[in-house]
Amino acid sequence: MAAINPWAKRMYQTGRWASNVVIWLVLWISCVAIIFLMIRYFSGAEWLSNLQGPAHFVAEFGMRLLMVIPFTLWLLLILRPIRTRRWVVGQILKLAQPLRGKPKLQPEQAVELESAPEIQLATSPTIATRPLSRRRFLLESGLVGGVVGYAMLIEPYQIQVREVNLPIANLPERFRGMRIAQMSDLHINAYTTSADLARAVAQINQLNPDMVLLTGDFVDWDARFADAATEPFRQLRAPEGIYSVLGNHDYYSGKIDTIKQAIQRHDLGLLVNQHTVLRRGADQLVLVGFDDPRHNRSGGPRLSPESINPEAALKGTPKDVARLAMVHNPVIVPHFVANYQLDVILSGHTHGGQFQVPILTDQLVGNAEYFVRGHYDLGKSQVYVNSGFGFTGPPLRFRSAPEITLINLVNAKA
Ligand SMILES: [Zn+2]
Repeated sequence: MAAINPWAKRMYQTGRWASNVVIWLVLWISCVAIIFLMIRYFSGAEWLSNLQGPAHFVAEFGMRLLMVIPFTLWLLLILRPIRTRRWVVGQILKLAQPLRGKPKLQPEQAVELESAPEIQLATSPTIATRPLSRRRFLLESGLVGGVVGYAMLIEPYQIQVREVNLPIANLPERFRGMRIAQMSDLHINAYTTSADLARAVAQINQLNPDMVLLTGDFVDWDARFADAATEPFRQLRAPEGIYSVLGNHDYYSGKIDTIKQAIQRHDLGLLVNQHTVLRRGADQLVLVGFDDPRHNRSGGPRLSPESINPEAALKGTPKDVARLAMVHNPVIVPHFVANYQLDVILSGHTHGGQFQVPILTDQLVGNAEYFVRGHYDLGKSQVYVNSGFGFTGPPLRFRSAPEITLINLVNAKA
């Protein structure tokens, strides 16, 4: 047999490698496109949001199950790029077999073809030494699919109640022990519906809060769901009222007035750079609500400076009275703490990372918004970041369950 020209061999190998990379990219982009189109379609699907009771539950469950497939494949393409690409191409070839008429290859040849990519793998000694067993790959796929399935079908339904004591210096006697329930980031659309919200409202009622605070993102993208995002709160029992601020997604709907009207119609105490004075007998507590600080993406660091107006919000507040504040995005908190006296700030926006990959998620969210989840003591102030209720993007939550916060106000020894 004539010796193979080494140059030709290298060209062949490079060509194979490049075509494999292209195939991988095409698969990866296809998955992203399918996920994107599914989210777009299902999040706005009116037929889905109009279904009631068990029919809605079944449809919603089926929709999520359908999304598990492209999402699992997308993750596998990242975690096991070579094996997954080979497997998918193999499956496509198998499916295409009947379309191409009678099989051109004998079974022995087909086996040879399927194992052909090994040639390319052999050029990388670290990969070649790894046993590429089919069973192991199936096990890994099952594991990834299981995590995605859990994140789409189980965790989103497990609402967590997190109880925290927030100490305030010189908290007036009558406000000690006040119970405040907080919800955030409802993101109501066709697959996070008023029925889902109604379950959370029932759960809040069981906690017997004195007051309920909602920290923005009532809808996901679409103002058609403004009523679905506000109406269920009619069932709330909170003797000292319900108060709300707006989030970036409320603005992304492009119909902020529709959202505002729905909030006002259902008496949810909208505060946009405004405050109210809570009274228990002669004792007072100031509650301030700020506008969303970061919905206008056109300006510099993506802050919306025109919407931040603490001077207006705090104008006329009684002197020496403790202040509770709400702002959707905690990114503005350091600015507030440096310039204004606010005893407690309640935020949301981060969804606690929503899909929590150890270290990575916290790093990414922390870099973008400074705070990720839970309580942060900032010396003369403090912020609590609620992990939210709905979703941004795909309907999945992993190690970041939907949250209802139950805050107890306690006196801090000044
Ligand atoms: Zn949100």
